[in-house]
Amino acid sequence: MAGGWTRDGGVQDQIDASVEDAVKLVRSRLPDGEGLTHCEECEAVIPDARRKAMPGVRLCISCQSELEERQTVPTGYNRRGSKDSQLR
Ligand SMILES: [Zn+2]
Repeated sequence: MAGGWTRDGGVQDQIDASVEDAVKLVRSRLPDGEGLTHCEECEAVIPDARRKAMPGVRLCISCQSELEERQTVPTGYNRRGSKDSQLR
């Protein structure tokens, strides 16, 4: 485990950094508590109704739908792929 050429502290720093990154990633994906009053992307006002309907919302409707569109591209491709394999 302990490499002769690596300081023990250096290894620990790397582990700490990756844990921190993972936490940041999770936080950026999960809604935490109250949503934002303004969109994180374009700073448009997020209506109260939207914030109540989606607790922890961070994006306005247009940025959210843009994001979802980007996210559904690979899923659509996979779905088509599995359908093809079912036909065989
Ligand atoms: Zn926006």
